[in-house]
Amino acid sequence: MNKKLYVISGSSGVGKGTVLKGFMDRNPSFMLSISCTTRAPRPGEADGVNYFFLSKEEFQNCIDNDKFLEWAEFAGNRYGTKKKYINQCLADGKDIILEIDTKGALQVKKQMPEAVLIFIAPPSLEALEARLRGRHTEDEATIQKRLNEVKVELERAKSFDKTIINDDLERAIAELEAEIKNA
Ligand code: 5GP
Repeated sequence: MNKKLYVISGSSGVGKGTVLKGFMDRNPSFMLSISCTTRAPRPGEADGVNYFFLSKEEFQNCIDNDKFLEWAEFAGNRYGTKKKYINQCLADGKDIILEIDTKGALQVKKQMPEAVLIFIAPPSLEALEARLRGRHTEDEATIQKRLNEVKVELERAKSFDKTIINDDLERAIAELEAEIKNA
């Protein structure tokens, strides 16, 4: 295993976070990168633990000073990975995992071609649609918007090194482990 930087992306609602948590529980030596964001902390989230929470001005300042390895806008907020943070982890010899959106993942690959990009996909668009409708929490327009976003992400995922289908949690975690250990 000589690759050190792994990027995990996946459309929201596919259980990406659960797969990743399963992996991290079993592989505690991996570092999960802490991103910067302009969104407000959710209850229970702490600065420097879940994210580095920045003001819009602070974030813009980091962009202007070329501090980010990648950054992207997602649902009205900005998210970015600091170069310094990643380089420090790599210099310390740590394996590092970035959990970022597909746009950001492709930016990382451009700058660090040795990064391994892994996409966590829903079993099928139909299954995802059924799940969204089953929740009865979103209206039709929102469901269509979400499905379109997923289609765009699936298109971008074609440039990823690997797609893991999350049809069964245990199997998906095992596949992620195998993929990372064999990379
Ligand atoms: P949330 O606000 O739910 O924590 O995250 C929303 C989205 O932002 C998720 O898809 C997550 O993967 C993505 N994200 C989190 N950190 C970063 C980052 O540093 N860069 C990019 N490009 N996306 C990120």
